Amino acid sequence: MTPRPRRLVLLGHPVAHSLSPRMQNAALRAAGIPLRYEPLDVPAGALDSTLDALIAEDAAGNVTIPHKAAVAARCAVRTPIAERAGAVNTFWVEHGRLVGDNTDVDGFDDAIRELIGALPAHVAVGLVGAGGAAAAVLAAIERWGDCRAGVYNRSEARARALADRFPALATVAATADEAVRGAALVINATSVGLHDDAIPVPVEALDPAAAVLDLVYRRGDTALVRAARARGRRAAGGLAMLVGQGARAFRRWFGVEPDRRVMWEALQDSI
Ligand code: NAP
Repeated sequence: MTPRPRRLVLLGHPVAHSLSPRMQNAALRAAGIPLRYEPLDVPAGALDSTLDALIAEDAAGNVTIPHKAAVAARCAVRTPIAERAGAVNTFWVEHGRLVGDNTDVDGFDDAIRELIGALPAHVAVGLVGAGGAAAAVLAAIERWGDCRAGVYNRSEARARALADRFPALATVAATADEAVRGAALVINATSVGLHDDAIPVPVEALDPAAAVLDLVYRRGDTALVRAARARGRRAAGGLAMLVGQGARAFRRWFGVEPDRRVMWEALQDSI
């Protein structure tokens, strides 16, 4: 059994806006674990030296924008799913070696189960976005069974590079309309809608039975979630994925299941 981490951090740049500290600190208190989860704002140039110090301290933690791929490259050991996603959002130290996992993938599955009741099979998915979150989405979908995904992204080259990593599943769509049309499930994996009411998905093109998961979360729901619901579609924002990935990271660090209700309530209080 790996010893408990001696420090728990969130690495990102910026990190001040993150809700993870509130959520994880609530879980730590509920579990009686005497650690605090600290946000660490680390510019890219300081990432290597910060990781060296954290390894020496037997620290553990999460990684957010823009460091997930760089931390994956630094890990001595990566779980198969972190390897597949090409990104690490959860790390810890084992025998002086940095180990990385990607709990966004299972967290995404948790959010899909919450939205539609079960993981689907044999469905078309419309995916908008081609960054790290979109890679985690495709890594999840390829486990579901005979699903396909149309990927649209503002920069087509990035969509193509992502689809090329998942050739059995993903094709590039020339427009968001094309990605969404006929899809049973539509995912926003861009950051559009985080700070304003911009909508990255053409809601008028949604299939009548489509369900929409927006990985973005904000107070009062994103404009995409509101617009999809207004048209009678099932739709949810990114909080369930945030809780899912956070709960799974907690289990990695401490070997025990955190109280997800406490984590959820901490988010409701802060959003
Ligand atoms: P990322 O790697 O930086 O990718 C950002 C994506 O958003 C790219 O596809 C980018 O397109 C697109 N984008 C940004 N601004 C845009 C605009 N104005 N118009 C159109 N497209 C735009 O970030 P990421 O890690 O994938 O994260 C994406 C979002 O998912 C973030 O908002 C993050 O908060 C959310 N997320 C949520 C969870 C959760 O637990 N709920 C977990 C992970 C991520 P280009 O390639 O053209 O720049």
